[in-house]
This record gives sequence, C-alpha cells and structure tokens, in this order.
Amino acid sequence: MIEEKSLNFIEEIIEKDLKSGKYTSILTRFPPEPNGYLHIGHAKSICLNFGLGIKYGGQTNLRFDDTNPTKEETEYVDSIKEDIQWLGFTWARELYASDYFDQLYLFAEKLIEKGFAYVDDSTAEEIATLKGTPTTPGKDCFYRSRSVADNLQLFREMKAGKYQDGEKVLRAKIDMTANNMHMRDPIIYRIKHAHHHRTGDNWCIYPMYDFAHGQSDSIEKITHSICTLEFIPHRELYDWLIEKLEIFPSTQYEFARLNMTYTVMSKRKLLQLVEEGYVTSWDDPRMPTISGMRRRGYTAESIRNFCDRIGIAKRENMIDISLLEFCVREDLNKKAPRVMAVLDPLKLIIINYPEGQTEDLLSENGPEESFGTRLVPFSKELWIEAEDFMEVPAKKYFRLAPGANVRLKSAYIVQCDSFVKDGNGKVTAIHCTYFPDSKSGNDTSGIVVKGTIHWVSAVHALKASIRLYNRLLQVENPSAEEGDFKSYINPQSLQVIDTAYVEPSLLHAPIHSGYQFIRKGYFCLDKDSTATELIFNRTVTLKDAWAKETKKN
Ligand code: ATP
Ligand code: MG
Repeated sequence: MIEEKSLNFIEEIIEKDLKSGKYTSILTRFPPEPNGYLHIGHAKSICLNFGLGIKYGGQTNLRFDDTNPTKEETEYVDSIKEDIQWLGFTWARELYASDYFDQLYLFAEKLIEKGFAYVDDSTAEEIATLKGTPTTPGKDCFYRSRSVADNLQLFREMKAGKYQDGEKVLRAKIDMTANNMHMRDPIIYRIKHAHHHRTGDNWCIYPMYDFAHGQSDSIEKITHSICTLEFIPHRELYDWLIEKLEIFPSTQYEFARLNMTYTVMSKRKLLQLVEEGYVTSWDDPRMPTISGMRRRGYTAESIRNFCDRIGIAKRENMIDISLLEFCVREDLNKKAPRVMAVLDPLKLIIINYPEGQTEDLLSENGPEESFGTRLVPFSKELWIEAEDFMEVPAKKYFRLAPGANVRLKSAYIVQCDSFVKDGNGKVTAIHCTYFPDSKSGNDTSGIVVKGTIHWVSAVHALKASIRLYNRLLQVENPSAEEGDFKSYINPQSLQVIDTAYVEPSLLHAPIHSGYQFIRKGYFCLDKDSTATELIFNRTVTLKDAWAKETKKN
C-alpha cells in the first residue's frame, strides 16, 4: 500500500535541523539493556531509530546499555543482535556503555572538580527522607558541603574498593528544592561489588542510568536521542550533565511507547512467564517477543509495516492487537504458497478409482501465476476434513452429504454415495464416486458444484502435529487490571492437534517459512520438528477481524 504520509514530529525536527545546518547528517541509536529478549515494543523503537537513519542518509548505532552488572547476560546480547538483523536493519557500530566506564569515571571526577558532585555517606533511607516529595522541597544533607579535595579522595577510594555496597554514593550537586525530583541531587555512581558480563571484576562502582545514558550519547555524538515518554522528567538532568561536562550536545526526544491489547511488554513480566513455566521459552510463539513472533511465522516485513502504520505519537495510546495480525495476514497473503493440510481427518474412499493408482495433479501454489505450480499426488483413499461431511446437511451447506457433489481442489468432482459409522455412531469413512471427465482445468463433465474442499492422499500424506495458539492473556488491558497479571493467563492458549495430515510437498518446508493451509489459516514449520515428526505453528487464522471492524466504522 502506498500512502502519502505526513512527517511525524521527530522527522519534522530532523528536517529542521538539517535545513538550518545544525547538523549535516544525523546519528541515532537503539539502546537496549541486555536483560531480556526484545519485544514488539522494541521493534517500534528499532523501526523508528533505524528508519530515520535510512530516510535521512544518516546512521544508527546499536548500543547495549549494560551498566547494571547483575541483570545482564551475553545470551541476551546475542538474541538482540539476531532480532535486529532479522527485522532487516544494519547498525553502523556495535557499542557497549560499559566500554565507556573509564571515560564516565573521568566525567565524574570532572564534575567533582567543578564542584558539581559530592560523595554522600547517608543510607538509602536517609537519602530518601531528605529528598522530600513532589509537593515538599528536599533538604541538603550533612555531606553536601564536603570539599572538592575530600570528594575526590573518597570517590577514588570508592573506586579502589575500600567500601562496601551501599556505604557511599556519588551524587550530582544540583538543587534539593527543585520542582523536578530528578534534579534533587541524583545519585550518579553507586558501589556494587558485582561481576559484569564484559568488564568482569574491573569495577566495583557503576554509573547510574542517568549518568551513563546521556554521556554515552554524547561520546558517540548522537544527534537525536530518541526514547519513550517516561524519560521526559529525566531530560532536564540529561541537559544539565551535558552542559556541566561541556561535552557534545546530544538532544533527547520522547515518543509514546507501544501498548498493545492482550499483551504485556515489560521484560520483567515476560521473564516471569518464562521462569515460572507459563510458556516454554522467550521464543515461545505466544510471547510478544520478536523471536516468539518469528517462530510463530510472523514476517519481518509485516512487523515493519505494523510499526509504520501505528506511527509515532506524543501521547500514550493502546493499539489493537488485531492490527498486527492484519499486517501479518496481509503480508502472508502475498507471499505464502497455498498447500493442503487436513487437521481433523475423515477417510474418503473413491469406489470407482483404481486400486494402487496414483496421479500427480497440477496445482497452483497461489492466486497469482508468479507463485508457480506443483504436483500433488491423488489416489483412491483420501483424507478430508471431518467438518466437510454432514450426514444431514444444514441449509446452505455445499459440501459433502449423502447424494451431494463437491469438487476436490485441483482434482475431480466426487459424489457421496454412502458412509460408514463405528459403534459409537461416529462417521469413520465416506464412500464416493468420482467423475473422470471432471478433472480440474479440463472439466467436460458439465456437472455444477457449489463447494470445493481440500484433501490429501492417504498413502502419500505426512503425519503432522499442529500447534494452535490463542491469546496468552484473556483481558484487553492486563496492566490496568487488579492483582497479578498472571491470573489473567488463558489456560487454553495452546491447543495441540496431533492427528493432522499434510501433503508431501511439505516434507522439506523450511523452518519459519509461511504456508497457507487452504481454508485453515497460515502455518509455519516449528524448530522442534524432526525428520520423523513435522510440527507446524498456526501463525494466524484466515479470518480478518480487523478489516471487518474497520468496515463497520
Ligand atoms: P521494558 O520496560 O519492556 O523492560 P525497557 O524500556 O526497560 O523495556 P530497554 O532495553 O531499556 O527496555 O529499551 C530499549 C529501547 O526500546 C529504549 O529506547 C526504550 O525506550 C524502547 N522501548 C522499550 N519498550 C518500548 C515500547 N513498548 N514501545 C516503544 N519503545 C520501547
Ligand atoms: Mg530500560
């Protein structure tokens, strides 16, 4: 879909900055903390940051914001890189805030030397008490008036490991009565005797987010530092630190984070789902992670399209998850080859078809010629969908019933003559006659049928297991509900069908690659598949709830 789109507010700022000559080229960054896998909200930030780099001929860095030693792992770093690449983006440089620890330390000393930072021996509790509240000003603590020389010496001792965790902190000396709580002498360094995934045991003091993030932007000469709205109150401190340190003036801009119905996105909550076994892993296809969506069969293009469609806003909003599903369906409709698979099999025996005979029937892979064709084997015994037969047909039921005709997709017209039931009254097979002159593409039979059904040849079919996914959470806005979000987990989020049969062309289906099982939805092969067991994930159904909704409005 080609749409004339107006500029979003960040693009407007960038165009102004380029036009005025403030910058000759732009540099953005995507700054994940490697403490979890990326989710669809991150995809929005990635598409925005990398998208701007591409649109304006600039560049985008990938910077791991890894200043918190205890929560970060290399596994997360690797998954983040894989996900960004899969989404289709290339970073200019791969950087780590931890690479700047030496530089950040020197920045801190510079602040101390300029009289803008001090070492505070107060306990966390004392610091909190003196901080005041949004309606009452804070108070200076006893240690605030330490001399530059004392502060320098104490800070160096902190670095040298002389003190225990929590014994001292370094704080910026700003204004304990500031309206903005973040400006009330924020802590910029703390003591933490912890191993870091990259710097090992080199450090026992670590910079706080506010003292690492903006400074890292500045070190890299990021022109437009884009983050989500909750960082608005941090901006004043971001600017203050840059000004006092007299370093490259990166500027922070904030946009509304993505919130999506039926979805939780905080990494903390996603980690609980994994650790407490509600899902199998970070890449469980029910997870809103990029890796989960990839495994479920979502395409990178559909996720990029989704991010593009929802746009960039300055105010929080809630996006309907069916818009994402619509984007997936739209993309797969263009790309996914059509194949035949029977999920709930019923045997169809063609009485007048020669025993042991097989025909390879030419079948189209898609609605357009560009999809190409394939040969599908046809024989005397087929599997059809149980719901495609009714002993007593309902009104307007144009499929099989005693005496009724139907076209077998890409094959012949058959007529149902009789059926067989087991002891419980369940239909176990139906017997049909086929019309040899009704072959698809060469039908001279003159028989008119109203229905076409899919099938697979029983002797050629591959057995498959199919995973049908439903929403993991049962409420529209889990974060707004009372209590633990896990009490809203859908106990039926995964339904496994292990009776399915698929056509033999799927033997070599690549993992993650999308197929339309005609009349059933979009599916892809799961990585749990083995040579003897095919496992497919349902990516999305065929039904288009979103389009219906938008037509109504
Ligand atoms: P979470 O709250 O899910 O744990 P986070 O903000 O702590 O996420 P980071 O790794 O710090 O995760 O995020 C990296 C970047 O992605 C940040 O710039 C952040 O603003 C952005 N981001 C995170 N979640 C969203 C979201 N839901 N929508 C848009 N951008 C997001
Ligand atoms: Mg964060």
